[in-house]
Amino acid sequence: MRFYDVIEKKKQGLELSFEEITESVRLYTEGKIPDYQMSALLMAIYFKGMSDKEASILTEAMIKSGDTVDLSELGELTADKHSTGGVGDKLTLIVAPIAAVLGCTVAKMSGRGLGHTGGTIDKLEAIPGFRCNMSKAEFLAQAKSVGAVIAGQTENLVPADKKLYALRDVTATVNSIPLIASSVMSKKLASGARNITLDVKCGEGAFMKDEKSALELARLMVEIGKAHGKRVRAFVTDMSFPLGYAVGNSLEVIEAIDVLLGRGSDDLTELSLELSASMAHSALGKDMSYWREAAKEAIRSGAAYEKFIEIVRAQGGDVSVIKDTSLFKKAAFSKKAYARRSGFVFSCDTEKIGTAAMTCGAGRANKEDDIDALAGIVLKIKRGDFVSEGEEIAELFSSDRARLDAAAAMVEEAFAFSDIRPKNKSVIIHEIC
Ligand code: URA
Repeated sequence: MRFYDVIEKKKQGLELSFEEITESVRLYTEGKIPDYQMSALLMAIYFKGMSDKEASILTEAMIKSGDTVDLSELGELTADKHSTGGVGDKLTLIVAPIAAVLGCTVAKMSGRGLGHTGGTIDKLEAIPGFRCNMSKAEFLAQAKSVGAVIAGQTENLVPADKKLYALRDVTATVNSIPLIASSVMSKKLASGARNITLDVKCGEGAFMKDEKSALELARLMVEIGKAHGKRVRAFVTDMSFPLGYAVGNSLEVIEAIDVLLGRGSDDLTELSLELSASMAHSALGKDMSYWREAAKEAIRSGAAYEKFIEIVRAQGGDVSVIKDTSLFKKAAFSKKAYARRSGFVFSCDTEKIGTAAMTCGAGRANKEDDIDALAGIVLKIKRGDFVSEGEEIAELFSSDRARLDAAAAMVEEAFAFSDIRPKNKSVIIHEIC
């Protein structure tokens, strides 16, 4: 096989064969295809797309590039969830304990945040002492004893994705549907769960800005999962506003605890219940409405909150801050942001809110950057709220005072107001299974 011919074939929009895709991934991962040639292939895929079959072969080839996690000793009830990245997305912290209470085994590997989106591992590490670096034996033991464990991805999980993603990032080829689908699904499938629930974000703050692309991505990921023998359901969900009110690591942990205590925002609570119900439905049968009620009861009874404490304790975290969130350290500096005009909150440039949180210190621009666990934003408004000019719309936190002015200006610029109240929008837009 000549790699030049593979590029040429895709450039003409033809379907690549099993061998062409598999060998390309293998040789690139082994360093035998240079970046400039792989960049050309990625760009050809970006413009010409891939068939479902090609995307499935690509996913399989990426899985084979590294280690896979064998969860078979945990049985059939292993359930995983994945969100395609958003602003204020603290769902895993809420959904993992609820799903465990419902009877799923949640043995989950999560990532760190990059750019304007946050990562679950950064959020969990905002809990003093919380350890995400675990051996395989520890990981499996906690999944059995607690029913839920959340760890960082092992070093050699889908190395092909690490190389390809880094290349996509600098060649403007990230937002290609087959490339995102194979990147996400290779990691999910290599992580070993039998049941997978996907949350495909759609809107300003997400990779997929419009509903049609989000639906297509969701459909393709479900197809790839099914082709690999998994039970998969996907939701397309709204990311035209940040999820909940808090953006930033320790602030999001506090908000997740609020949801587990039954006092979370409507959007975050609704989506948490739906994703947990989907995981349970997929693993345990019965219908979704049964599990929605069971998920509500897991919160109402305090069982999900207790399960979260159990997870934190098992992973070395300080449970006193979970039991009394006022014990979380506070950022040294804060600043308020104000509405620039009166009106109903109409729209939000969600990516700008993510960037403002990053400016406060909550995110990293490069993989090597440190983050400030205490930094971030607590919004005071949601779509449809009425505010008067000069009213407080957010409070920003940082350990570095110099960062706050620019970040507060971004928050103020991010919101648009109207004279007419916008229609309510459900956070769940579509379900695909
Ligand atoms: N998340 C991933 O893991 N991969 C992508 O390509 C995009 C988002």
